[in-house]
Amino acid sequence: MLPSPRLVLVVNSGSSSLKFTLLGATGGPALVSGVAECLGLPEARIVVRDNGAKTVVDLEANDHTGALTAIFDRLDRAGLLSRVAVVGHRVVHGAERFRESVVITPEILAEIEACSPLAPLHNPANLVGIRAALTALPGVPQVAVFDTAFHQTMPRAASFYAVPMSWYRDHGVRRYGFHGTSHRYVSAEAVRYLGLPADDHGIVVAHLGNGASATAVVNGRSVDTTMGLTPLEGLVMGTRSGDVDFGAAAHVARATGSDIAAIEEVLNKRSGLLGLSELSNDCRTLEAAADEGHEGAALALEVFVHRLARHIGGLATSLPRLDAVVFTGGIGENSTRIRAMTTARLAVFGIRLDETANAACVGGRTGRISRGSGPVVVVVPTAEEGSIAADAARLAGLVDVDRPPRRAV
Ligand code: ADP
Repeated sequence: MLPSPRLVLVVNSGSSSLKFTLLGATGGPALVSGVAECLGLPEARIVVRDNGAKTVVDLEANDHTGALTAIFDRLDRAGLLSRVAVVGHRVVHGAERFRESVVITPEILAEIEACSPLAPLHNPANLVGIRAALTALPGVPQVAVFDTAFHQTMPRAASFYAVPMSWYRDHGVRRYGFHGTSHRYVSAEAVRYLGLPADDHGIVVAHLGNGASATAVVNGRSVDTTMGLTPLEGLVMGTRSGDVDFGAAAHVARATGSDIAAIEEVLNKRSGLLGLSELSNDCRTLEAAADEGHEGAALALEVFVHRLARHIGGLATSLPRLDAVVFTGGIGENSTRIRAMTTARLAVFGIRLDETANAACVGGRTGRISRGSGPVVVVVPTAEEGSIAADAARLAGLVDVDRPPRRAV
């Protein structure tokens, strides 16, 4: 009898939710995936997707460890847990210490912990997931994959804020960038799809989901990106403001007597598309509302596109040549309207939209949506879980490095 293929478990342990995906070590579609939601609250539950079927299970122990224990029990009962050969963990902040994915050891755990002050909401939650998995699966290698790692190649001119250098020396204040796993995967896929030379290309990737960032990539390396010390900088996002004059925050703090934490919360949770529209953080909802004459929704979409186009233009100055602009993430992969509005603003680069191709390229399709001889615009679906699984499988020695895994979906 043939041995059962070995599996990779990807864990993305966030502050109030924990996502998991079980994949084959050589890629391919997810076998089982799910999300534990509302952690810490009485209504905590796990939503599991298995072969297209969705099951909702209430959680008895409503914390991260309770959620992982319930997930492991379920995988065990299905005969899958014993086949897990490596666990890949998403870790948000790797500071300057982590330039690539690593196998987790006690020393690495301590170093991830040391990065926590830079991401106080995220890294501690990531660590809870790692510790719970280490306890439940002793002897199974665990790999950390960092959101920041891909951007560690940024030159210093793109990395520093013009603030006192003591902020950097004493508190690590500099630009780190995020969504690195997505930007790395999507840029490599775009280069492959377009047949660009590996050692001679310049592209801008726009990852537009609830969080949004854009990155300039030269020959497979990030050279600038829109997020900074935290994921608050840069593009307009679902509920995050992106770039904002610090003077505006100081003005409101003085006028209302709010402290820094309260202002930070507003900029993270009540700004962006939601703050502008006073309706929703969801692009689909805003498009429908704008069509029905909702002024706030129309304004939110306009500001989103203006900021995006302005950043793409700025990022292009870090490239030797603009070969391509790549759209990804829920909005980038599906919103024909945001793509059309943005490419119209990129006419200055000689970019022209192919409207038929734009309309066709939705729902997870890869394709070119521009026409003419200018820089190419393409849509490439992201696969963050698949990339984490690929790194984990490689570092655990499960795959031949010369034969990269098939794309996960
Ligand atoms: P996350 O960052 O949470 O992973 P996603 O990448 O799933 O988020 O992106 C979510 C965003 O994608 C939402 O704003 C949603 O409205 C938007 N989106 C998804 N499908 C469409 C669509 N067909 N048209 C416009 N926006 C869409």
